[in-house]
Amino acid sequence: MKNHKFNPESLMMSHGYKPELSEGAIKCPIFQTSTFVFKTAEEGKAFFEIAYGLRKKDENEELGLIYSRINNPNLEILENRLCLWDKADDCAVFESGMSAISTVLLEFLKPGDLLVYSNPVYGGTDHFINHFLPSIGVHVLGVQPNQNAEVVKAMIEKSGKADKLAMIYMETPANPTNDLIDIESFSNLAKHFSTSERKVLTAVDNTYMGPLWQHPLEHGADLVLYSATKYIGGHSDLIAGAVLGNQEVMGRVKVLRTFLGNMISPNTAWLLLRSLETLKIRMDQQTKGAQEVAAYLNNHPKIESVNYLGLLPEDSEQYRIYKKQCSAPGAMITMNIKGGEKEAFQVLNNLKLVKLAVSLGGTESLAQHPNTMTHAGVDPEQKKLMNITSKMIRLSIGVEAAKDLIWDLSQALDKVTIEENEVAYS
Ligand SMILES: *Cc1c(COP(=O)(O)O)cnc(C)c1O
Repeated sequence: MKNHKFNPESLMMSHGYKPELSEGAIKCPIFQTSTFVFKTAEEGKAFFEIAYGLRKKDENEELGLIYSRINNPNLEILENRLCLWDKADDCAVFESGMSAISTVLLEFLKPGDLLVYSNPVYGGTDHFINHFLPSIGVHVLGVQPNQNAEVVKAMIEKSGKADKLAMIYMETPANPTNDLIDIESFSNLAKHFSTSERKVLTAVDNTYMGPLWQHPLEHGADLVLYSATKYIGGHSDLIAGAVLGNQEVMGRVKVLRTFLGNMISPNTAWLLLRSLETLKIRMDQQTKGAQEVAAYLNNHPKIESVNYLGLLPEDSEQYRIYKKQCSAPGAMITMNIKGGEKEAFQVLNNLKLVKLAVSLGGTESLAQHPNTMTHAGVDPEQKKLMNITSKMIRLSIGVEAAKDLIWDLSQALDKVTIEENEVAYS
């Protein structure tokens, strides 16, 4: 009995917060302050020595509060609570998912380095990798969903830049197709190309699954990244990001965050603390509803195919990866409608309960058209390779009753007029 270990969902109301430091308030107040008063000049000096890495922390010494760009109680408590889900040493929270991603890429990639990344990735990440990184001399090599670690190993060797490989970046499941990447085998690939002077890092954007249904650090990844705007925030009312990993990599991420100044605000951190209390019940309900909706769509005569992790054929490689690294099929469904953009838009324009908007992971269900919306900026040839087509609709399932969502999708699909020859030649 003595060593009982609480589950993360049981600790989301209390972990890292001491009521006695805040007049006994049961909830953590918002520390809306830019700076913190030192007790003595000696204390201020000691805090700066640690913050600027001038000396190592003594045992039991904590980094004291200095200035809200460096640290703030709302940020620290949020980071401590996020660490529980991914069993990470440390976490850094950011003002957006993109600032978390771009800070990690900027910290660990230098001119001349090679970045290997999986396709497809979130549209903003795709832009940063393919347009910004090459402009500062970083070489990028994209991997297609069907290319496994063996194939990629040969591609890296053939590139002539194997000795410059600095990072393998994965997004799995991929937005918007739900394609899976084997985190363990790509982490082993990074180890294969590492030397004693140069460790090749692996980073995983876990926004689609996390922090509940997939834990990339357990499969060998060095860094986990989130758009906390999505499931972690969960109410479509804020923008935020997070990065987690071991002490060493997170020390570097936090130093760059201090100097870029792209940390989250105390107010947004407080909203996320509130969101975390219901994270598990929201996500449990979302995946339950998504499984019912996906099963319904999969049998609909106007739908050609459904990409959903709960519907993977059991003899497929994707299913093998799913069983290895995911604990639930999630709540993101991509359906391909018979026809094309016209038919897809008819569905989107006729939905009543499901809202037509980008983003995902919130309490309300959302639908969008990746080809002309979130992934509009991706190179058209690349889009073809990734199967992002005009017939694709992406759904994010919220916490509504599945029956109501099915009713809504059913009535919207009824409005679609598919002409005979269109189906025959699509
Ligand atoms: C939304 C999203 C991002 C970007 O996050 P923001 O919070 O919008 O900056 C990155 N990756 C994935 C998979 C996303 O869905």
